[in-house]
Order: sequence, then C-alpha cells, then structure tokens
Amino acid sequence: MAAHDCLFCRIIAGEIPADIIYEDDACLAFRDLNPQAPVHVLIIPRQHIASLSEAKQTNEIALGGLLLAAARVAKSEKLSEAGYRTVINTGAGAGQSVFHLHLHVIGGRTLNWPPG
Ligand code: 5GP
Ligand code: ZN
Repeated sequence: MAAHDCLFCRIIAGEIPADIIYEDDACLAFRDLNPQAPVHVLIIPRQHIASLSEAKQTNEIALGGLLLAAARVAKSEKLSEAGYRTVINTGAGAGQSVFHLHLHVIGGRTLNWPPG
C-alpha cells in the first residue's frame, strides 16, 4: 500500500493532524479520535506493517519498541498503578479497521474481561 493511501502513514507524514504524546525513531503514539476510555492511545510503528499477521522477523525490534513505548505511555498517563490494557486487533473479524499495525493502550476506568 502506498503511504498516501494509509491513514496512519499520513499521520506519520504530518499530513493529518493527531494529538501526538510520544515519539521515537521507531514509533509514534497519539490519542485515539474515538476514545473507548478516559485514556485511549494508539502506538504505531513508523514503518508501514499492515497487521501483526504481516510482521516479519526483520520487524522484531520495531515490535519490541511498541511494547516498551506502551509501558512508557502508560506511565506518563499515570495508568501503571491502577492497570491498563494493551490490545492489537488483527484482521477485520477481530475489529481491525485501520490496516497499519497499531497497539491500543486503554485505561482510566475499570476494564472488563473477556472483551467483547
Ligand atoms: P482498530 O479498529 O483498527 O483496532 O483501531 C483503529 C482506531 O483508530 C480506532 O480506535 C479509531 O477510533 C482510530 N482512528 C481512526 N481514524 C483516526 C484518526 O484519523 N485519528 C486518530 N487519532 N484515530 C483514528
Ligand atoms: Zn501505513
């Protein structure tokens, strides 16, 4: 997919505004437009990977970076003590609607299990 066809690649390129709260060489974190909890942040790799299913061994460091960024964001959003959820929806059947890999960090309220 060309970068201009991907919503999150366009956010990375600065073509679409986003409330960015963290970034590093490998990833970007910004607030979800339609939050499902008081804190709802998306963390995306700068490199376009369509979904977790498309990730390759060469993406290993980028994938690890997403998890470490999630923990960092959770700490800066003061979620670490009460707890938070990290979610990667993979495929339309699991609710993936944007096909650029992203990790949701959700918190700030009680989260039920199992998710719907
Ligand atoms: P998915 O359903 O693919 O797991 O998650 C996609 C998420 O992207 C949704 O939670 C949706 O609210 C969010 N989203 C969709 N478009 C935009 C946008 O333009 N800006 C931001 N910040 N979030 C978006
Ligand atoms: Zn993309």
